[in-house]
Amino acid sequence: MRIDPEKCVNCGTCQSYCTVRAIREDPQKEVREVIEDECVECGVCLRAGICPADAIFQPELTWPRTVRQEFSNPLIRHPSTDIGGRGTEEMKTNDVTNRFKPGFVGIGLEFGRPNVGTRFHDVQLMAQALASLGVQFEPQNPVTALMIDKNKGILKPEILSEKVLSAIIEFIVPLEKLEEVLKKVKELTPKLSTVVTIDMISRVGEDGSIPTIPIARKLGFTIRPNAKVNVGLGRPGM
Ligand code: SF4
Ligand code: SF4
Repeated sequence: MRIDPEKCVNCGTCQSYCTVRAIREDPQKEVREVIEDECVECGVCLRAGICPADAIFQPELTWPRTVRQEFSNPLIRHPSTDIGGRGTEEMKTNDVTNRFKPGFVGIGLEFGRPNVGTRFHDVQLMAQALASLGVQFEPQNPVTALMIDKNKGILKPEILSEKVLSAIIEFIVPLEKLEEVLKKVKELTPKLSTVVTIDMISRVGEDGSIPTIPIARKLGFTIRPNAKVNVGLGRPGM
């Protein structure tokens, strides 16, 4: 995103709309400007329609900068999956797709959040560590589509410094492997320059128990159980 210095009247309104604090004042020119390397191309400042001088504009983006927009702007369709958003739809539609079967756990690792963002070198660091544990990444996931070696978790080198609002790695592990994976995530996260949220998707047991909770609790994670029932999506998977 850019701000036209010829039009900007330095009112500062756009600054509070920026999702990652990428707009600053240029005191010499007395205008606001976008810090190019920090901007994740989410489009919020432009879409909000708040600029009184019509100074905010979207220049044409080229690869690899386009990856910022694909992961940060929910209105942009992602070329690897042809769906908007950051993860595969099945994470939220397991009632029907039955991707996550009893005895298995679907894991989504979410890197970044508003105000923080993430760069792909942090995503790669985690992906490589998980790959060394034998994790197989979800092929329909946008981050997996950017890997040049899926068995080693290596991403296209030209995107490593690109910053996005957030990105998600997805994979499935047998329940007995969950502790090993969570330990690795916990060990590596403090070395990253972003925050990581762990989504764990599993079937609820017949007695109402959630099998992942005791394992995560034992390792000291803060847990927020969350259920989703999708109505009218089709015949439930068994
Ligand atoms: S809202 Fe528009 S005029 Fe005001 S500081 Fe931002 S770019 Fe400049
Ligand atoms: S596109 Fe998003 S990240 Fe970039 S300046 Fe606008 S609000 Fe900030």
